Amino acid sequence: MNEKILNSTFEKIKSYIRQNEHEENTPVVNYKEPAQLRNILSPQITDDPVTENEFLQLVNNYLTYAVKTNNKQFFNQLYSGFNLPAFIGDMLTTLTNTSLYTYEAAPAASLIEAEMIKLMSSYAGYTHGDGTFLTGGSNGNLIAMLSARNNFLPQSRFQGYNQQEHLVAYVNEQSHYSFDTAANLLGIGSDNVIKVKAGKDGRMLPQELEREIEKTLSMGRKPFFVAATCSTTLLAAYDPIDEIADITQKYGLWLHADGAFGGSILLSDKYRDKMKGIERTDSFSWDAHKLMNIPLVCSVLLVKNKGVLQHNLTDINTDYIYHDLEDIEDPGKKSIQCGRHVDAVKLWFAWKYYGKQGYAKRIENLLDMSAYAEEIVKEHPRLELMAPRQSFNVCFRYVPEFETDLNEFNLALRENLRKSGQSMVNFGFIGKELTIRLVTSNGELTKTDIEQFFDNLLSTAHLFENQFAAEVYEYQK
Ligand SMILES: *Cc1c(COP(=O)(O)O)cnc(C)c1O
Repeated sequence: MNEKILNSTFEKIKSYIRQNEHEENTPVVNYKEPAQLRNILSPQITDDPVTENEFLQLVNNYLTYAVKTNNKQFFNQLYSGFNLPAFIGDMLTTLTNTSLYTYEAAPAASLIEAEMIKLMSSYAGYTHGDGTFLTGGSNGNLIAMLSARNNFLPQSRFQGYNQQEHLVAYVNEQSHYSFDTAANLLGIGSDNVIKVKAGKDGRMLPQELEREIEKTLSMGRKPFFVAATCSTTLLAAYDPIDEIADITQKYGLWLHADGAFGGSILLSDKYRDKMKGIERTDSFSWDAHKLMNIPLVCSVLLVKNKGVLQHNLTDINTDYIYHDLEDIEDPGKKSIQCGRHVDAVKLWFAWKYYGKQGYAKRIENLLDMSAYAEEIVKEHPRLELMAPRQSFNVCFRYVPEFETDLNEFNLALRENLRKSGQSMVNFGFIGKELTIRLVTSNGELTKTDIEQFFDNLLSTAHLFENQFAAEVYEYQK
């Protein structure tokens, strides 16, 4: 054991964590262009080992140039923040390095995962629910579509999928791209994932869904799967599950809820109505690594009925690994993975630490913070709200005094904020218009952090305006 490396690295980890607590002046990223960073890091592996000091330098460099996703000015992704109990859980998981296929290999983790699935199922209103932790919402959406296909065509497990069947799936036109990937992987084909029109608020229009289903049927094809997105990535819109469930029930289709992003809203009694009807769905993907601020990856796929996953995935001969020696089901039978990282334990530590009430408050704080950001946008004469706020995201842009291409201006604004390390925020397009997307996903955000973000953005915008004015002056001279 190398004591020096051990102690020095742990000291660095501690100071990295502490820095986040006093982060006002620390950049979100020490941005370097790829060629510069390659020079600093020297990622190549050499024939000879590095020295102890060189090794510690690698540790230092890695931490220095990583994006500080735990900095409160990191708004770029649908996840952010630092969660100490979850971090500890993740460290213990890596330290013990068990694998979640059998009780005998991971007894505590098996019990904890089962408990987390039970708890999360209860939030979804699944009374006989089941589920598995897997490698993310994209994977959850895939397994949900696979379950729907095998439910609709049970023989396809053994005989494969016959294209004459011509299965068709339906999603919100603003849904996550993983449904196209899933259809691709399952042999259904992404052309058979129909993108159903959404309203201005980004929510799928149920009458459009029904119209598309009728159209499919009239072509002699077979509708089998509908996904309701529970918080879309750009507008953070929640599809109307109840109204969609009326339709899937009428036509006998599998209804999946993609709550990878917004599923955590179920923790709040005050806001869980956004997902009214969730108990009527057949499956539900939910990323705890997004709004619950658990370190990546922490994602669950829940199904309404026990046995569905095992039947669809692994009801084959696996005696050599699953001995069923104990009075508990081996979790590996519900997964397409064999070796599986323990992701439930970090969530469990965090949930124990905050309690159900504490977590509800964290989620409510996210919505309060996005409401506050929306207010700032509405009140500022140069900020334009690009769409009515649905939940966690505020979409807006800056409109400068002078006439210019607004897309270019706002992209430049965003790039300047990012490369200077002041704030990181992402953007998307509503039609052809570029919109800045502010996501409030860090449970510990305060109004001061939101104000700081707008201070950074507005002072950069003013700087641009001054530069522009100066250029005009030069020109006139
Ligand atoms: C993030 C997201 C996904 C994908 O989840 P990963 O965990 O990143 O694979 C799917 N759907 C929605 C709506 C998302 O926001």
